[in-house]
Amino acid sequence: MKRVYFDNNATTPVAPEVIEAILPYLREKYGNPSSIHTFGAEAGAAVEKARAQVAALLGAHPDEIIFTSGGTESDSTAILSALESYPAKRHVVTTRVEHPAVRSLCAHLRSRGYRVTEVPVDRQGLLDMDALRAALTGDTAICTVMYANNETGVIFPVEKIAELCRERGILFHTDAVQAVGKVPLNLAKSAIDMLSLSGHKLHAPKGIGALYVRRGVRFAPYLRGGHQERGRRAGTENVPGIVGLGVACDLAAGAMSEEQTRVRAMRDRLETELLRRALDAHLNGHPTQRLPNTTNISFEYVEGEAILLRLDHVGIAASSGSACTSGSLEPSHVLRAMGVPFTMAHGSVRFSLSRFNTMAEVDYVIEHVPPIIAGLRAMSPVGRERLKSVAS
Ligand SMILES: *Cc1c(COP(=O)(O)O)cnc(C)c1O
Repeated sequence: MKRVYFDNNATTPVAPEVIEAILPYLREKYGNPSSIHTFGAEAGAAVEKARAQVAALLGAHPDEIIFTSGGTESDSTAILSALESYPAKRHVVTTRVEHPAVRSLCAHLRSRGYRVTEVPVDRQGLLDMDALRAALTGDTAICTVMYANNETGVIFPVEKIAELCRERGILFHTDAVQAVGKVPLNLAKSAIDMLSLSGHKLHAPKGIGALYVRRGVRFAPYLRGGHQERGRRAGTENVPGIVGLGVACDLAAGAMSEEQTRVRAMRDRLETELLRRALDAHLNGHPTQRLPNTTNISFEYVEGEAILLRLDHVGIAASSGSACTSGSLEPSHVLRAMGVPFTMAHGSVRFSLSRFNTMAEVDYVIEHVPPIIAGLRAMSPVGRERLKSVAS
């Protein structure tokens, strides 16, 4: 059976060049970078090469890069570091649409006595900048705003927000897990203090990520132990993962604009055709202020989960905005924050592409989605009413 993977915001396939680069570090180059013998030196040099590759993609200095276990650890490290570095400040500013890696931590901080302000978004998923400005106070230790949303692809003006924070002496962190490798970054020219990225969202393996910490920013480690990462993140380095992340960043830097143009063309064709061919289909998220690879579409009067199961039957992998937790279908917090009506939020599907997809795959999905939607509508009482009203 044909298999089409359109769920790249959940995780990406590892690039063949990345796999090739990793293998020697699993086979013969297995030294511990902290060891003084040649095995250790070899591994240590590979880690430093990868650090330079990650830094180059971000426009950062290598000593501003700390390797972590992924996006979640980077987010936690950044936020907790700010709170520990400025213990008198008890306020965190964030948004209503963050990834659980930030959202759950902020909820936990609130239960521990911190004040947390979640800035709202509008119907298109754009941030309320007046509310954000009003939220920043003398008591704010850190403002953390994602670069691009994982569910809708909507991009926030984080450079601008970073400047607002800098003017007020507030640390600014961005969860850029979905942006790195898709949008050009140059941290040397920005006011961003800390930035999180994750390997498995840009064709490196799972379980490796990095945190950028600008030179001079106060920092408190999250993991204590050995002296790895210059005392900023203890634990023996994930050398194969780090090597893979370096190569993945190199590949992303090399062909970003050309590849993202191709990805955007595929995404746009998919989106245009689905909105045209499927009845009562609506785009979630701003049409242009968005990542080139993501489209989130609501098919009214049908359940997202039901669509996903049928898509899976024809080999298509996508994702829905609703998570089936403990038997209750909760629409996504992102779509709820945008004020997407319940009937639409339930029927949302996210298609997220990568440079490994093809236009032939787009055509396969365009061919299969409309009949699946029509079939599911015909099964539901509300859907049947709607079909009748359109036919008459
Ligand atoms: C995937 C993702 C994360 C979590 O990264 P992990 O490496 O899986 O821990 C955090 N933020 C965003 C926006 C993501 O998409």
